[in-house]
Amino acid sequence: MTQEELFKKLIAHSKEYGFIFQSSEIYDGLAAVYDYGQLGVELKNNIKKYWWDSMTKLHSNIVGIDTAIFMHPKVWEASGHVGAFNDPLIDNKDSKKRYRADVLIEEWVAKQQEKINKEVEKARKRFDEFDETMFRQTNPRVAAYQEKIDAANNEMARTLEANDLVGVKALIENLEIACPISGTRNWTDVRQFNLMFDTKIGSVTEGANTIYLRPETAQGIFVNFLNVQKSGRQKIPFGIAQIGKAFRNEIVARQFIFRMREFEQMEMQFFVAPGTELKWFEHWKQFRMNWHKSLGFGDASYQFHDHIKLAHYANAATDIEFKFPFGFKEVEGIHSRTDFDLSRHAEFSGKKITYFDTEKNESYVPYVIETSIGVDRMVLQVMSAAYKEEKLEGGDIRTVLAIPAALAPVKVAILPLVKKDGLPELAAKIIDTLKFNYNIQLDEKDSIGKRYRRQDAIGTPLCVTVDHDSINDNCVTIRHRDTMKQERVAISELPQIVENEVGFTAMLKKLL
Ligand code: ATP
Repeated sequence: MTQEELFKKLIAHSKEYGFIFQSSEIYDGLAAVYDYGQLGVELKNNIKKYWWDSMTKLHSNIVGIDTAIFMHPKVWEASGHVGAFNDPLIDNKDSKKRYRADVLIEEWVAKQQEKINKEVEKARKRFDEFDETMFRQTNPRVAAYQEKIDAANNEMARTLEANDLVGVKALIENLEIACPISGTRNWTDVRQFNLMFDTKIGSVTEGANTIYLRPETAQGIFVNFLNVQKSGRQKIPFGIAQIGKAFRNEIVARQFIFRMREFEQMEMQFFVAPGTELKWFEHWKQFRMNWHKSLGFGDASYQFHDHIKLAHYANAATDIEFKFPFGFKEVEGIHSRTDFDLSRHAEFSGKKITYFDTEKNESYVPYVIETSIGVDRMVLQVMSAAYKEEKLEGGDIRTVLAIPAALAPVKVAILPLVKKDGLPELAAKIIDTLKFNYNIQLDEKDSIGKRYRRQDAIGTPLCVTVDHDSINDNCVTIRHRDTMKQERVAISELPQIVENEVGFTAMLKKLL
């Protein structure tokens, strides 16, 4: 199965089993807006819980808040979004498709990188004792590709920094980038496009004001810095976490829930003393990478991508990229934002925003390390890593979602063998012992084999079969999703077994 086929199957599977639906589908949908179905919402809530607990419960110096989507319009002037939250867009005149100019260049770079990787793999097969680092440094073909990549990256950074849109177009032409749809290089000029949605607050008679739907949750944290610090008597270093909706009028609406116009973010701003920010940047880089790796999708599925073009206020920035079916792409950004945000809000609001450090006996504007991750991109990460079609011994194919057990939408399926002889009643009793802590599904229809397949397809880690013997021996059969192994266990032991397998604790402990 190619990666493209996998991606198509994943989208169809997400719909068929109630994970993700196109928004307003009966009206032919709304581009880049999606709804979460009955299972999707459970998966999404579990991802949010894992993030929230790993931030606020594992760190005594991080607290959470929940701020409004609407904010004073000046917030977005201070943050720079009104002036500069733009993407450079370009259209292909033949296909009439619109692209982000920087993304076209980044995709070209990724292709060159793939060519280098192919050279490395070829060489690895040729030599017994292969020194990859040495090969990358000395092979002339690799060096030539790398030179082209560096030149393109530098030119992209230069032109975007200088807002030189003619230069961006020239770069696209020089790299001979063609439209993936029409295959032609017949491009329009590059234009800047502001991504913020606006609307009106107040009735027109009152003199309505333009306000924005927030394009990120971070600003709600910055404007509440003093409120939280004072009311919570927080001492630096400390962090504020928030999960919430964000809105961006994205130019290119492709790749399913990877790029949406309404999405959710999980952001944490960590306030530190000036001069210590790069140490904390390293710390959060590692912590956040470990969080991703703890999901068990394999370390090779992740990479850091350090920013070449730093925003003028940042002194370090990196992305954590995940290997989606369409290549390595950003799921999370980690940014060292200096004192830019708090200083700008102080300037625009006219309020003093400083912190008095009792240890240093001085006041300063704290520096900030931000970790910012998209909930929806996490859902896509989990779904695309989890989706598998396995060939069984008899030749049958089973479709299974190997979702990390703690994140699975349904934790346990209870399957009474027949719908009589007291088995449904015993099943109900078992559900009563588990339902306060876990999402449980009762499935009574069809053969046990068919029920297993249904549960595999939605990623349920455990199936519990209640049979006639269960009435007498008070035991049930547990079947594990990934190994398909079955074991007979006492009903009284179920709560502990389930907690060990699907609880969040084991995953959280891995992070310490
Ligand atoms: P990209 O370069 O992909 O547009 P970005 O660098 O603009 O992303 P940030 O502003 O750093 O993204 O936002 C932080 C996180 O929010 C991203 O890592 C991503 O997971 C998520 N995110 C941003 N834009 C979207 C979107 N349109 N749809 C879904 N998630 C998004």
